[in-house]
Amino acid sequence: MADLPRPALLALDEVLARMLAVARERRITESEAVGTFDALGRVLAVAVASGLDVPPADNTSMDGYALRAADVPAAGSVLPVSQRIPAGVVGQPLAAGTAARIFTGAQVPAGADAVVMQEQCEAVAGEGLGAVRVNTVPAAGQWIRRQGEDVRHGAQVLDAGTRLTPQALGLAASVGAAVLSVCRRPRVALFSTGDELVMPGQPLKPGAIYNSNRFTLRGLLEAAGCIVQDLGIVPDNLGATRAALREAAAGNDLILSSGGVSVGEEDHLKPAVQAEGWLEAWQVAMKPGKPLAFGAVKRTGGETLFMGLPGNPVSSFVTFLLAVAPVLRALQGCATGLPHAVSVRADFDWPQPDKRREFLRARFNAEGGVELFPNQSSGVLTSAVWADGLVDNPPNQAVRRGDTVRLLLLESLIGR
Ligand code: AMP
Ligand code: MG
Repeated sequence: MADLPRPALLALDEVLARMLAVARERRITESEAVGTFDALGRVLAVAVASGLDVPPADNTSMDGYALRAADVPAAGSVLPVSQRIPAGVVGQPLAAGTAARIFTGAQVPAGADAVVMQEQCEAVAGEGLGAVRVNTVPAAGQWIRRQGEDVRHGAQVLDAGTRLTPQALGLAASVGAAVLSVCRRPRVALFSTGDELVMPGQPLKPGAIYNSNRFTLRGLLEAAGCIVQDLGIVPDNLGATRAALREAAAGNDLILSSGGVSVGEEDHLKPAVQAEGWLEAWQVAMKPGKPLAFGAVKRTGGETLFMGLPGNPVSSFVTFLLAVAPVLRALQGCATGLPHAVSVRADFDWPQPDKRREFLRARFNAEGGVELFPNQSSGVLTSAVWADGLVDNPPNQAVRRGDTVRLLLLESLIGR
């Protein structure tokens, strides 16, 4: 067997740039048409442009009276009501010197240039629809939502590569898009390594622990819109690991594993990947999550990307968010960078920083600052559930209470 590449200590940004370059080259090019109803979480393959103005016409944002502002020179002016326009009904052009009773969302009749909300009017009984006393002097344009103020005819409202959030689906629907062209879902094979692992529901024999990464990683993959082929637990030996890799490579875009990527005698993933394809093994200057393996496994007709995450539960969680999630986005043609961090006040001291960039589990307190989970060990999964985000702390940087630190929100890391 060829010698394994010697792990180098690299910055996360370097490693990311390398992985993203490879992932972009292997971008999924197949797309499919899905109903807008069913497109939540998918990534647009083709931009959505609008064939209409939104709103399609001027309409009122208040229940009240549509009129010409010039017809109300003083508060208390009385105008006859010439028509009634509920939402969905198109009124007649407004006769000069009259007002139209109008309801939120109804198109403003031609000739009217203002709406007065009903709270500032009094209905006056009389012939037909009666009259209205307007108790305020309206400004031209008030309470009118202008045609096209949201979207102009011809405008591109959603770019290719956009992950479809609920509000993006709403915007697509607002321009009348019933069907969207989206990237096919990434297919990902997942397995955990470790002879100590036992599944929940099984008795915990001495020396064993429950397999938590399988649940965390599968959940993260599903939240990222992937189709997961879950291969379960692979024993700690070279033959089984190679067999699992071959099975995982068939029909998938990415193979994701946890554990077995350190340099111990029981860590078989790296030699196995190297035997089945190619491998770049890194020591990333980040904490948690130092070892990371990246490569590809050969299959008939091509190769499947491989990412091997460390086994410690917080390490695999954080490495997924900071490395796997961007790769999955790149495979689908999305913008790939990490989300922007928010600047927050540290309500904690971190007197002994690490040489590596640290991602500390932190949570907002009631005073608007952030606090750290007391145990930042990479095995303490409780911290990841407790946290709102990860403080992105540069190498060798001590933090004093009151300092401003950068927080990456878990919600934005998971949800993109
Ligand atoms: P490894 O990366 O295989 O050396 O594992 C590092 C640590 O993470 C060890 O303490 C393992 O027992 C633990 N570990 C590995 N895989 C899992 C898993 N799937 N679930 C929970 N803990 C794990
Ligand atoms: Mg192991």
